[in-house]
Amino acid sequence: MLALLLARASVKVTVMEKHADFLRDFRGDTVHASTLRLLDELGLGPRFTQIPHRLIDTLHMEIQDQPVNLDLTHLPGGHQHIALVPQWDFLEMVATAAEAEPSFRLLRNAEVVGVIRGPDASGYGADRVVGVTYRDENSEIKEMRAELTVACDGRSSTVRWAVGLKPHSFGAPMDVW
Ligand SMILES: Cc1cc2nc3c(=O)[nH]c(=O)nc-3n(C[C@H](O)[C@H](O)[C@H](O)COP(=O)(O)OP(=O)(O)OC[C@H]3O[C@@H](n4cnc5c(N)ncnc54)[C@H](O)[C@@H]3O)c2cc1C
Repeated sequence: MLALLLARASVKVTVMEKHADFLRDFRGDTVHASTLRLLDELGLGPRFTQIPHRLIDTLHMEIQDQPVNLDLTHLPGGHQHIALVPQWDFLEMVATAAEAEPSFRLLRNAEVVGVIRGPDASGYGADRVVGVTYRDENSEIKEMRAELTVACDGRSSTVRWAVGLKPHSFGAPMDVW
């Protein structure tokens, strides 16, 4: 999503995805009302409605023997529901929208394995992150330099590890309710 926004602002941007496609099942399928509003703001609402999906506007569950009923029909804004959509269709839609921008490039089968450090293009700083090393589709290790490197590689982020950041663990059994 960030890459789409940057590309629409004519910033040259490359997204690296280690897999060949988005056909995986680790992220869930619910797209919430606030996200649907964001898609509208980005002009992606009509494309989204073309993806086969289901809408949920009420939820009934039992938690610790107590019935819990959620009614989304009173939500403010343009969407009073959750949409259920296969995540790979959703991500393909965003990637396709970004690929319409000439300054956007998605490299599939490109696994980031580390960061490159050094002075930036104007010679400032000796230890800045100035790009990444990655394994390409032929298993060759290559370099890509960039003015800005954004880690968006999920909860066991390679880039976070490469720059020495350690997440705090709060021991919560669930991080979404
Ligand atoms: C089981 C489960 C169900 C969920 N259900 C929902 C839901 O229904 N609705 C909802 O809104 N949220 C849901 N979430 C939360 C949501 O999935 C996350 O908040 C969201 O996916 C985080 O996005 P991300 O881009 O940070 O990371 P991710 O979605 O994990 O994306 C990281 C991407 O980086 C790629 N990658 C990883 N390492 C590298 C590397 N070294 N080089 C190149 N690419 C790499 C991965 O292949 C992946 O495509 C769920 C989470 C889980 C675990």
